[in-house]
Amino acid sequence: GDFLLQVRGLCTAFHTEAGAWPAVDGVDLDVRRGEILGLVGESGSGKSVTGFSLLGLIDPPGEVVAGEVLFKGRDLRALDEEGMRRLRGDRIAMIFQDPLMTLNPVLRIGEQMMEAIQAHENVAAGPARERCREALGMVGIPSPGERLDSYPHEFSGGMRQRVAIAIAMLNRPDLIICDEPTTALDVTIQGQILYRMQEICRDNDTALIWITHDLGVVAELADRVAVMYAGRIVESGPVGEVLDAPRHPYTKGLLESMPAAAAPGARLRQIDGMAPSLTGRPGGCAFRNRCPRAIARCAEQEPGLTEEGQRGYRCHLPLEAKEGAA
Ligand code: SF4
Ligand code: MG
Repeated sequence: GDFLLQVRGLCTAFHTEAGAWPAVDGVDLDVRRGEILGLVGESGSGKSVTGFSLLGLIDPPGEVVAGEVLFKGRDLRALDEEGMRRLRGDRIAMIFQDPLMTLNPVLRIGEQMMEAIQAHENVAAGPARERCREALGMVGIPSPGERLDSYPHEFSGGMRQRVAIAIAMLNRPDLIICDEPTTALDVTIQGQILYRMQEICRDNDTALIWITHDLGVVAELADRVAVMYAGRIVESGPVGEVLDAPRHPYTKGLLESMPAAAAPGARLRQIDGMAPSLTGRPGGCAFRNRCPRAIARCAEQEPGLTEEGQRGYRCHLPLEAKEGAA
């Protein structure tokens, strides 16, 4: 069909002494070729676990317990470890918050990049090295030919993250999943990397799932946004529409906590209350203890998915388009 990636009913649980905790609880996602999807939520919302689940990177006591992950129409959950490993780094790549999760500290960058190419393709050393040089140049690393001989610790934090992006792009994947890769960087460098990433994905028709707690980053970068809360997607749609007029009170709360909405130097407004913890999902709407709009029904019944065109949300008392405008 039209979609590069279609996720249906994804559930990932962590087995604890208190029982199975559903970190991801029935997630649906659609990603088109070349599209940038921002997956947003607070820490503990299940957004990172979703990313790791898609790539088969969940280790015990975690377990993907249900759902389909269709990549080009093929269910990745049916692949064995070896099949999944071959897909990772080739058709699908991941970029982590800490680039040192990707980079081997004792290998020169060029050696690691060559390995990443040659693990998936039979390419001679000369052309492979040239591709590595090009990839470093593409992410804006000065003197890329010389830098191939550097070790990871010889790069600054921002440059190291660029190297991780270059490695992810080496085999021109169809999909990249990024888990807050710019969070530790200063705002200027973050902006440069976002811009570069957007360009690279457009040029290569690479789709991107950008996992972040920062709606401002999503506004800059994404075509569509999916907002996660307590293991579920509570709102999704084209980024301009959702940010201009959120229907879900949680999305509105996130928007109001964005720096751009505050006066320069003003303290960020936090959304009151805590996300549901390990003690599990309360009955009804999981957001109800923090929701300024909660009504009796919110405690009794979990809101189902309402779909309107390209948009979707889960709320008994959604904001009107006008009310939601920030
Ligand atoms: Fe708030 Fe109720 Fe909507 Fe949940 S369902 S977000 S508690 S109004
Ligand atoms: Mg995380």
